[in-house]
Amino acid sequence: MKLKNFLSIPVLSVVLLLGFVYYVTVFVFIEGLYGLQSSAGLLNSLIFSFLASLCVFSLLVCVLTDPGGVPSGYVPDVEENQGSDQEVKRSGVHLRHCDKCSAHKPPRAHHCRVCTRCVLRMDHHCAWINNCVGLRNYKSFLLLVFYATAASTYSMVSLICAFLFLSFLSLYLLTLYFCPFSVGCGIISVSLSLVLGTLLVWHIYLTSRNLTTIEYQEAKRAAWLARKSGLSYHHPYDVGSFKNITLVLGPNMLKWLWPTAISHIKHGLSFPTTRDSS
Ligand SMILES: [Zn+2]
Ligand SMILES: [Zn+2]
Repeated sequence: MKLKNFLSIPVLSVVLLLGFVYYVTVFVFIEGLYGLQSSAGLLNSLIFSFLASLCVFSLLVCVLTDPGGVPSGYVPDVEENQGSDQEVKRSGVHLRHCDKCSAHKPPRAHHCRVCTRCVLRMDHHCAWINNCVGLRNYKSFLLLVFYATAASTYSMVSLICAFLFLSFLSLYLLTLYFCPFSVGCGIISVSLSLVLGTLLVWHIYLTSRNLTTIEYQEAKRAAWLARKSGLSYHHPYDVGSFKNITLVLGPNMLKWLWPTAISHIKHGLSFPTTRDSS
């Protein structure tokens, strides 16, 4: 448990933003549209509360889960490393070594300057969760973005419905209800939906190709180099879209949307490659 991870301004800002969006959606948008005493108002606030709880739970898992460090005394399996073209260094040496940790680096692990250690299947260091996104918390990170997108889109739709409903009822009520505060909340909810939606689409793409954010940059360069030599580049860990997704979310589809269902994630010192499946 890394409770101290919560003691950072970006993480506390995310928690505050979540609380603010929850208050505005339930007590301003849904209350204005249906009234919380009505069954429609109650149902909508329950659905939104459910989404918001899953969002908070995913955030907790992301912040508190250790993404995975390299075990001390790790010695790479040379045969396994040879299977991955991307890990081959330009010098021709197959073994990866971290100068800062003075230790061998498994495939897909990278050194994080903030965490001052090598992180397994590192995606990126995320200031908003004050933690690295790596092997063991990538699923919860993906689900955090998913639930946050769903919640902010729900909030945006509630706002649009409230606007249309009140403008249909009377223009006077509309001007009364849509004070500068409500308009400001609306702008926040629309912006959040767009930013989170884009981030979600991006990470779904990366997951379907079995790429991390770091590997995407590396793959772009490798593809460019290959093109220059008249060759084509294929990411070595891309073993097919559906298989790639199950490697992150798990083989059981019923557990795909649960952030702590990560029993399918093993040691993270080696990964299936296209060579294994051919
Ligand atoms: Zn390192
Ligand atoms: Zn880090």
